[in-house]
This record gives sequence, structure tokens and C-alpha cells, in this order.
Amino acid sequence: MPVLRNHHTFHLNAQCQQLEAFHDASSALSLCDRFSHHYLLGEGSNTVFIEDYDGAVLLNQIKGVEVHDTDYAIQLRVGAGENWHRLVTTALEQGWHGMENLALIPGSVGAAPIQNIGAYGLEVGTFIESVEMVDRTTGNTLILNNEECRFGYRDSIFKQELLGNVIITHVNFVLPKNYQLNTSYGELSALTHPTPHAIYEKVIDVRSNKLPDPATLGNAGSFFKNPVVSAQQFQELQDGYPDIPHFHVGDDVKIPAAWLIDQCGYKGKQVGEVRCHPTQPLVLTNLGGASGNDVVALAREIMTTVTEKFGVSLEPEVRLVGKEGLVAL
Ligand SMILES: Cc1cc2nc3c(=O)[nH]c(=O)nc-3n(C[C@H](O)[C@H](O)[C@H](O)COP(=O)(O)OP(=O)(O)OC[C@H]3O[C@@H](n4cnc5c(N)ncnc54)[C@H](O)[C@@H]3O)c2cc1C
Repeated sequence: MPVLRNHHTFHLNAQCQQLEAFHDASSALSLCDRFSHHYLLGEGSNTVFIEDYDGAVLLNQIKGVEVHDTDYAIQLRVGAGENWHRLVTTALEQGWHGMENLALIPGSVGAAPIQNIGAYGLEVGTFIESVEMVDRTTGNTLILNNEECRFGYRDSIFKQELLGNVIITHVNFVLPKNYQLNTSYGELSALTHPTPHAIYEKVIDVRSNKLPDPATLGNAGSFFKNPVVSAQQFQELQDGYPDIPHFHVGDDVKIPAAWLIDQCGYKGKQVGEVRCHPTQPLVLTNLGGASGNDVVALAREIMTTVTEKFGVSLEPEVRLVGKEGLVAL
């Protein structure tokens, strides 16, 4: 049976029944027909195979970057199987600016709109004009414009109504030529001469120091989303914890999950071969021989403890895949 260890960044020793790659929409559809029980995979940086998967894993390898240079913007039509960071780097080298805040986020271009990847004050939805896809059941081609994608915090229509129904084949980006650099967030605001190159280098520097490299220490980035609570709930929390960090999001308040987990004493804590990362407690890592049970046990324990202490529910940001498919914690 094919081994999935090198097809997901958490590097657990799961297997699947078949492993097949597709290079265009029609080969993707015929693989879906051939293997009724399947899981679509980009680069596996948001997926943790916690058990052997009892179906076919289909690898997206749709490549290609088409460029259209207009007076006002650079338009890019990018194959869903392209690597995200490579696209950001190519854009920077070509002088097409804006996406540098999102440098070094692992994964494929096709998965980027699904959870609306974001970092350093920017989300990919800012640059997406439309997303092209095929319907897995009917085989029809669909194009959704930006508004129809309903981008939100780590969210989009692809995680809601369209979950599991479509295969994203291409993403269309627009990079306006009059784009204003975004240095509003954290370490970027300290840049004295912000240029696209400086932002790109700074983001890579900060990320490399803060986050474990999946090539050497298996992980799937932030394991949990940052919870968003009502203003009233936040006020109650702040009464008990005056130093609680927070960001206002419309009428609601977002709290860093890393802070909540840290306050519960989990930084560096280990269950079996899975550890809560000592410098970034939002990341769980595979110390080498982790099992899916270790992952689930530590993740559940963290969720329960945070709820008991703060009355706040944590939701996983990663997809856990078991024998039958997606698994809830
Ligand atoms: C070290 C590290 C740091 C990270 N930092 C960030 C960060 O700063 N910000 C952030 O937002 N995320 C971050 N992530 C998460 C991850 O990079 C993103 O979620 C990324 O978009 C996942 O891409 P992928 O191709 O690896 O997705 P996969 O894990 O392969 O797939 C994710 C989901 O999308 C589905 N899918 C994949 N491709 C397609 C397609 N073409 N059509 C339809 N469905 C598809 C899969 O079935 C699966 O459910 C980080 C991850 C790691 C390991």
C-alpha cells in the first residue's frame, strides 16, 4: 500500500489504498469516477492522516502560470498544483507586488483559497479575482468570482457548501500596479524602509525563526484557529485577565489561541511523540514516531483545558483524515 508519510507535512506513517496524480481537469474527473472513495491532496500541509486511509489519495499536479499585463494590474491564471511560495517568489522577482506578506506559507495554489490563507495582516482573498473548478459529480466547469467565494477568516465557500464537491483547477489573481504595501502587522511595522523585497525577507526571517520547518520536524502549522468571541464575552475575559492580547474584528474580538494554550501550561508539553512547540504553542509537532492517537490525545486535551479555564472553544485549523475521511475532534 502507498505510504503517505512524505505526502503530508506532519509525516505520520499512514497508508492509503491507491495514490494517483492528475495533471488536468479531465484526468481528475476520471480518477474521481474510478475511485469513488478518494481524498484530494495538494501538498498536505493542512492535512494530517491520523490513520490508514481506506481509499485513493489523488494528488493535484495541475501546473502553469499565464500572465496578462494590463495598464492597471498584472493578472495571473495559475494552475492549482503550483507551489504557493514559488508563486510569491516569482511574482516578487518579476516586480509584481502585494503577495510578499504571504511568503513561505506551505502548500499549493489550489488550496490557498480554501482556507483563505493569511499572515502578516493579509489574506490571499485580497488578490483573487476568481477561482476555476470542476464539479466532482456532474463534471461541469464553474467559475466563482471573489464575492461568490465568500472569503472570511480561514474560511470560504470551499469549506462550507462546496466542501468535498469541487476540484479547484486554476486560481485567477489580480495584482494592482498602484498597490500600497501592507506593513501594519507586528514585526513589519518596524521596517524603516519598507519595500516589497524588505517585506519578503522579513517575513521569511520571522517565520523561519518562529515556526518549525516541516522538512525537519513534522507539523501542519497552526493546529487551531484563533477564536473569535463576542465583545461581551471578551469583556468578561478581560476582567479576569487584564493582559489578554486581542484584535478587534468588526463587533467581535479575536484572541490568539497561542496565548490561551500557553496560559494553560502547554508550551513544550508532550503526549507520546507529539509535542506542543516550545516557541509557538499553536503548533503541534511530530517528534519522529508520533501516532494519530498521540495527535488526537494532545489536541483534545488542549481543547478541553482551554474551554475549562477560559470558556472559549478552540476549533482545529487542520484537517484530520481517518480511515473513512475527514474526522472531527
Ligand atoms: C509550517 C506551516 C506554516 C503554515 N502557515 C500558515 C499561515 O501562515 N497561514 C495560513 O493560512 N496557513 C498556514 N499553514 C497551513 C497551510 O499552509 C495552508 O492551509 C495551505 O493552503 C495548505 O495547502 P496544501 O496544498 O498543503 O493543502 P492540503 O493539506 O493538501 O489540502 C487542504 C484541504 O484542501 C483540499 N484541497 C486541496 N487541493 C484542492 C483542490 N485543488 N481542489 C479542491 N480541494 C482541494 C484537500 O482535500 C484538503 O481538505 C501552514 C502550514 C504549515 C505546515
